Amino acid sequence: MPNSIHHLARTAIKELSAYQSARKIGGIGTVWLNANEAPSTPCDNLSLTSDVALNRYPEPQPAKLIACYADYAGLDPTQILATRGGDEGIELIIRTFCETDDSILICPPTYGMYAISAKTAGVNVVQIMQTPSFGLDLEGIAKALDDQAVKVVFVCSPNNPTGNILPDDELARLLTLCAGRAIVVLDEAYIEYAKTSYADRLVDYPHLFIIRTLSKAFGLAGLRCGFVLAHPHAIALLAKVIAPYPIPTPVSALAEQALSPSGIAKMQQAVAQTLVQKERLACMLKDLPVVQQVFDSQTNYLLVRFQDSPKVFEALWQAGIILRHQHHNDRLENCIRITVGSASENDALIQQLRHIS
Ligand SMILES: *Cc1c(COP(=O)(O)O)cnc(C)c1O
Repeated sequence: MPNSIHHLARTAIKELSAYQSARKIGGIGTVWLNANEAPSTPCDNLSLTSDVALNRYPEPQPAKLIACYADYAGLDPTQILATRGGDEGIELIIRTFCETDDSILICPPTYGMYAISAKTAGVNVVQIMQTPSFGLDLEGIAKALDDQAVKVVFVCSPNNPTGNILPDDELARLLTLCAGRAIVVLDEAYIEYAKTSYADRLVDYPHLFIIRTLSKAFGLAGLRCGFVLAHPHAIALLAKVIAPYPIPTPVSALAEQALSPSGIAKMQQAVAQTLVQKERLACMLKDLPVVQQVFDSQTNYLLVRFQDSPKVFEALWQAGIILRHQHHNDRLENCIRITVGSASENDALIQQLRHIS
């Protein structure tokens, strides 16, 4: 009985190992620094009013929510699609542009969901490793565009898990390289922690798609709300593929409050606090003998290279402090990604690390 339907599943799904999301890895943690969540929700007075009509289907793309985000991003509402988290945007772009013989191109080390979404859609994944200093290998990418049926190129800035941003000129060269040939997806999930967004450049690049989310700086990972920003024609294509009613009415009602002027101001205060905490945490980490390197980061997390990361990861796990191990990724030997927590969470982390020799 247990296996009586396994043979009916698509081959790509049988071969796929499921994404090890931060929540799935388990652990009995008291301090969760593994999913880049905000330590608390900045806009802490969100509430549902009684006029949220749950008997009706929601608006397919809630007009007020779209207007709020357009305002926030400095764009026109026609350039915005609301999605169930940034992850749905990633999947939609692949399903909209890739036939099963096509490929996406990713530049590891980077976010894991690009490859997972491609594989679940039966789409190939071409990997062009980043340079040792975490830059794009543009020559390698150019060659892959010539040789393989690459339809979508994913880049992430600031990049998860390395924390660095993609310099403007590298992105501009990538966009030129891909014009007329492939879509470029720029994942800006952490953009609020960095200074520069590419959103104002969308008018110049009809093949550019930007992924955004309320899960990180807005502290609303539980809400599952994200956005794709792109040319209106591109948004219209994605709108054909997305489910008819993707955004539940309570989600848009709460997200609109978080995107109000006061919600945005609170988010910005929380980001400023997190950046102060990040500097403090980086300084404390650099003083520890078990730490080899703390990479520069324009995000709410730090990539840290230890002398012996499996030992550190395990010791902290046992102490209920859950981090994200990166040791298994090429270029990230002995590295752990650590989310910047509240002051007391960061202190608890440092305290435990001092016990390890
Ligand atoms: C967290 C994250 C996302 C999207 O997360 P959602 O919770 O689905 O909005 C997208 N890209 C990167 C790089 C992320 O770290």
